[in-house]
Amino acid sequence: MVRCSNCGNNISSNLTYCPKCGASLETDNILEGPIKKKSHKKQILLLITSVIIIISICILVALNF
Ligand SMILES: [Zn+2]
Repeated sequence: MVRCSNCGNNISSNLTYCPKCGASLETDNILEGPIKKKSHKKQILLLITSVIIIISICILVALNF
């Protein structure tokens, strides 16, 4: 049994939302947390790789011209 953080109603752990008030359970946020962190890390990696590509293109252009 999980307790609803919104109204305090006891809900079975199988449910992802409170049948009394309709609020989503805290377990959903815990599951979403690591996924968001991973995507954030991927965004940083994409930024770094894009900067490296831009710098390498600038070097290539400078060498050719
Ligand atoms: Zn509730």
